[in-house]
Amino acid sequence: MKRYGLLIDTSRCIGCRSCQVTCKQWNQLEAEKTVNTGSFENPPDLSDKCYNKIRFIEVAEKKNGVDWYFLSQRCMHCAEPGCVKVCPSGALKKSETGAVAVDKTKCIGCNYCKSACPFNVPRYSEDRKVAKCTLCNDRVLNGMQPACAKGCAPGAIKFGEWDELLKEAKASGKSAYGADSLGGTGVLYILEDKPEVYGLSPKPQIPLAVTLWKDILRPIGLVAFVGAIVAAAGHYAVIGPKSHEEKEGE
Ligand code: SF4
Ligand code: SF4
Ligand code: SF4
Repeated sequence: MKRYGLLIDTSRCIGCRSCQVTCKQWNQLEAEKTVNTGSFENPPDLSDKCYNKIRFIEVAEKKNGVDWYFLSQRCMHCAEPGCVKVCPSGALKKSETGAVAVDKTKCIGCNYCKSACPFNVPRYSEDRKVAKCTLCNDRVLNGMQPACAKGCAPGAIKFGEWDELLKEAKASGKSAYGADSLGGTGVLYILEDKPEVYGLSPKPQIPLAVTLWKDILRPIGLVAFVGAIVAAAGHYAVIGPKSHEEKEGE
């Protein structure tokens, strides 16, 4: 199956939050209590009840007010996802569509995925189950586009085959964020300014501790474990089991 993704053109986003609402509606996410943090941004953070949040970024003062950038913040559906790498239960896994899918029934609430995500995306419900954007895999597998893309009237969120979206992002002549990170993120942003201005890391990476543990220490531990078993079996085959006298002498 082809890889699918989203291209989000921030220059087209008007901050209407329709994508935020359609996401909640499709995923049947409850309303949540919020707080006023002195910004139009609401709620202040992603949560188990908010998988897609519009970030409001105040950039410069115009003649009659302020100027804004808007960014739809959600899971990036990385080609090489840190969350999947560390998930011990299989609750997070790559789908054939390219989405990083969630199976809440398998989640054991260990929090590993949160520490392995370069974009600080996974959140947890009160019963310690992981919650995040699924790229609307349920809709995509049934021939529909994600709810947020359908709900975006100005066309800032475009769903399609990832290769085509990448070409379009690169042809824009602007910064195509995500194209060269983590194997290419499933969600690509066309940015008007530097990534840092949007609160994005210029070079997102899986934390070093995670890479060390999964790619180096764990395989070494496994090799050592298997080596010990092979050595014990070899000893048994060549020398044989300990005799009664040997055991008593000990
Ligand atoms: S953005 Fe985070 S949660 Fe989403 S796929 Fe990448 S590592 Fe996983
Ligand atoms: S793809 Fe689906 S789950 Fe993800 S932000 Fe859009 S509507 Fe929400
Ligand atoms: S629906 Fe489209 S224009 Fe409105 S906030 Fe979301 S991305 Fe921006």
